[in-house]
Amino acid sequence: MTLKDVQIYGAGLSGLVSAINLVRDGYHVTVYEKEEKIGGSSECHPSVHMTPLHMQQMERYIGIELESCFSKLDDFRGYIGPKKLVFSTQNLYVVERGPRTSSLDYFLYETAVKEGVTFEFSHPLTSEELRSIPDHSIIATAGYSKMVKALHLPYVTFKQFDTHLQTDLENMSLAYFGGFTSDYGYVSTKNGLLSAQLSGPLRLSQEHLKKFTDLVKETEGIELAGWSSLVSHFPKKARLFTKFAGKTFVLAGDVAGFLDPFFGFGVHGALISGKIAATSMHSRQKALQEFKRCTSHLNRDLFVHTMYWHLPFKKLILSQVMKFQDTSLSFVKRSIPGFTDEDWVKIISIVD
Ligand SMILES: Cc1cc2nc3c(=O)[nH]c(=O)nc-3n(C[C@H](O)[C@H](O)[C@H](O)COP(=O)(O)OP(=O)(O)OC[C@H]3O[C@@H](n4cnc5c(N)ncnc54)[C@H](O)[C@@H]3O)c2cc1C
Repeated sequence: MTLKDVQIYGAGLSGLVSAINLVRDGYHVTVYEKEEKIGGSSECHPSVHMTPLHMQQMERYIGIELESCFSKLDDFRGYIGPKKLVFSTQNLYVVERGPRTSSLDYFLYETAVKEGVTFEFSHPLTSEELRSIPDHSIIATAGYSKMVKALHLPYVTFKQFDTHLQTDLENMSLAYFGGFTSDYGYVSTKNGLLSAQLSGPLRLSQEHLKKFTDLVKETEGIELAGWSSLVSHFPKKARLFTKFAGKTFVLAGDVAGFLDPFFGFGVHGALISGKIAATSMHSRQKALQEFKRCTSHLNRDLFVHTMYWHLPFKKLILSQVMKFQDTSLSFVKRSIPGFTDEDWVKIISIVD
């Protein structure tokens, strides 16, 4: 092994962005992936993610042209209970995730292969192997990988139910807030695929899932079935480096805590954090500065979000919160890494 060898664990968004940037900088990059092919876990993918994004700024930042993978959102409706809201779609995109060739994962993987990154599939990083992997390895294995726990990082546990089916609906998202979850449920569509998710604290149950499923049927006539469930751990504090068994590891994506705790937007943060993890290999200081710039508000936001889980009368509070269109809700608006207050106002502004 030379100083120019880098090991990345996890071939998802942050791991692939790191790999592409590092190989371009002259490193020999090997990505170790748990699954036998690209596209992450079949428990939650294929899926459609909705994400806020500044497309050109993002492309410049990470040095990868991504636009062909994303579609602008055409329609974004929400429900607080049965009450319907129409949200602005500004800066909002849908993107396919998972193993299909039309996914963002596949696009980044193909780019990485062309640039010379080496992949080892069916290689899950385990807590035992953590002790023997090289210093400065990049860990990008997502919140559901148990690595946050294995690295002894303080964490919050989330539960989610996921399903997907075929659809004729394109580039549409639905968000459901109500008594069935402390967070929210959503439906998104792209490339003939509809995916739905309900997420919240560990106590999220089949009963909550049924309420959500019934509400989607009642409001939009969509029948959801075939759910799988997943438990994830997210760090209580965003961090770029962590020490383990006398070594320093670089963290990226969910494992770095680089996601918005309020709405679970993680695509934007994962892409940025992949670039920052790559930067850390040649400039620790610059990487730390960038990491801090993008995540300074996240630790507080995660705390506020956990408190919110315990609030009574959330439905009432939510309907009030959704009426705000000024900057007084900065704790919610700034929870997407790299987004400004103004960007957030555009996103949560209600059209009707
Ligand atoms: C079903 C679902 C829906 C979501 N919806 C949205 C959304 O609508 N909008 C949004 O912005 N965000 C959404 N998110 C969050 C977003 O997907 C993540 O925050 C983002 O993908 C994190 O990127 P990452 O690089 O950390 O991990 P990922 O992109 O998930 O990649 C992790 C990779 O690591 C691999 N891996 C796992 N364990 C190991 C191991 N032990 N060893 C080696 N490899 C391993 C996985 O197989 C995977 O390939 C959703 C997440 C899920 C799971």
